[in-house]
Amino acid sequence: MLELRSYLNDHWIAGDGEGAPLHDPASGAVLATASTAGLDIGGALDHARSVGGPALRGMTFAERGELLIKLSKAIHGHRDELLELSRANTGTTLKDGKFDVDGGTATMAAYGKLGEQLGDRRYLLDGDQETIGRSPRFTGQHVKVPRRGVGVHINAFNFPVWGFAEKLACAFLAGMPVLTKPGTSTAMPAHRVGEIIVDSGLLPEGAWSLLCGSAGDLLDHLDSQDVVAFTGSAATGEKIRGHRNVIKRGVRVNVEADSLNAAVVGPDVDTDSDTWDLFLREVSREIAQKSGQKCTATRRIFIPEGLLADAIDGLKDRLADYPAGDPSDPSVRMGTLAAPAQMADVCEGLGRLAAVCDVAHGEIPAADGPALVKPLLFVCKDPANTPIVHELEVFGPAATLMPYGGDPAEVAGLVNLADGGLVATVYSDDLAFSGTVLMEIAPYHGRVLLGSRRIAEHSTGPGMVLPNLVHGGPGRAGGGMELGGVRGLDLYTQTCAVQGARPMLDKLLGK
Ligand code: NAP
Repeated sequence: MLELRSYLNDHWIAGDGEGAPLHDPASGAVLATASTAGLDIGGALDHARSVGGPALRGMTFAERGELLIKLSKAIHGHRDELLELSRANTGTTLKDGKFDVDGGTATMAAYGKLGEQLGDRRYLLDGDQETIGRSPRFTGQHVKVPRRGVGVHINAFNFPVWGFAEKLACAFLAGMPVLTKPGTSTAMPAHRVGEIIVDSGLLPEGAWSLLCGSAGDLLDHLDSQDVVAFTGSAATGEKIRGHRNVIKRGVRVNVEADSLNAAVVGPDVDTDSDTWDLFLREVSREIAQKSGQKCTATRRIFIPEGLLADAIDGLKDRLADYPAGDPSDPSVRMGTLAAPAQMADVCEGLGRLAAVCDVAHGEIPAADGPALVKPLLFVCKDPANTPIVHELEVFGPAATLMPYGGDPAEVAGLVNLADGGLVATVYSDDLAFSGTVLMEIAPYHGRVLLGSRRIAEHSTGPGMVLPNLVHGGPGRAGGGMELGGVRGLDLYTQTCAVQGARPMLDKLLGK
């Protein structure tokens, strides 16, 4: 049995005891175990702070960027092996595996290029010097300097490679060492990425650590210069934010949590238009891709009353293009859930939706069967008075259609009942409709995609998180912000306002 080891103090080390099992969700076979029992996590964080931190801070942005590009290439060199591990340990088809693996390497490469553009500096200037006294000689300048702690990255099970890579890219480029803690149930691809980057010989000493298995007492060892970037459920996010030591030391925490992402169809959309096709294509993909186990998957579909029947028929047709099953079968286009343990949760959630909605397509499988859920569509006729459809995230291939009267303010109010989300899509070619919905929902979302005929051929869809646009959302979605180009470095830097004589600031900080 493969025992996944952690990488602490620049050494691979196994935890004590049996460890947690990692499965092939299609067969149920145990593939590996992972334990962190008995590991000296506090010592490993000290090593990262005292050895990895200075090494990365000593490099310029251009050098850190070059490191990211080289790491991305090293990982890409093992792409086939990683895709096979994704299939085995996370139940994804080849295409869904690429979404995770290629998404990770592409994000690292994008941040590598950003590093090249930022050039020979080691920290960022934020704006220009501003005169702050009566004399123009007395000025202030904001700088963003790398924090002196560790970027502690606690990831969800659904994106073992992308989640690892996107967080590491921002932290490394900012100049902070990283400890990666993947979701245990799907840690095999992340563990392999770790082996690849260690074997590449590119990592400065102490720059990167891996904790494979449960978080143990990790949070007890954090200090005020550390940063926790967490992705996972709202419940765990709440525990991390409320952890005694995290509060006491004022540890910076970024939470990327769950989200009931909405798609809105405008009343102007004809069923024979490109915009309608875009809606059907993107929403069906959002339901089926990675078996709906994406934080950005569309969960709620708001549709004008008169288009409800067409939307159900159209989505059913599209979903037929996603035969579900064991991802090792090449005819399968939608794999299993990522781990057998999720089956009970997903089935329970589907049952709760079925109790208040009509099931328009699909059926709820037995919770004790294989970890395979085929796409389901629910219809909720009274969304304003059915809170559960805006609150319960079922992390599987299911979405709820909800009719509305066609008024933009009405539908925006329904979208906002989720109290914050990662992404929403508005499918409409009516500028006034899209504009009203956009301004009403923008304060509640990290990203809004305006799906119209003009971008029907080009849209990447709401589910694709891009390195140059921010990822995260307020309220229910965790209140976090990652990526967004240079904005992604904010989490790992301290903004300091420096006051002094203009010539002195020019000499010390540059222009
Ligand atoms: P989870 O159960 O909350 O676990 C997330 C991570 O937290 C795992 O690495 C887990 O470790 C760790 N963890 C659990 N308890 C902890 C504690 N007390 N202290 C420190 N770490 C702890 O979430 P999940 O089931 O992996 O992921 C599914 C959820 O993530 C969904 O709700 C989804 O919407 C959300 N998600 C959000 C985003 C986003 O960007 N907003 C992206 C992907 C997923 P173990 O695995 O060892 O338990």
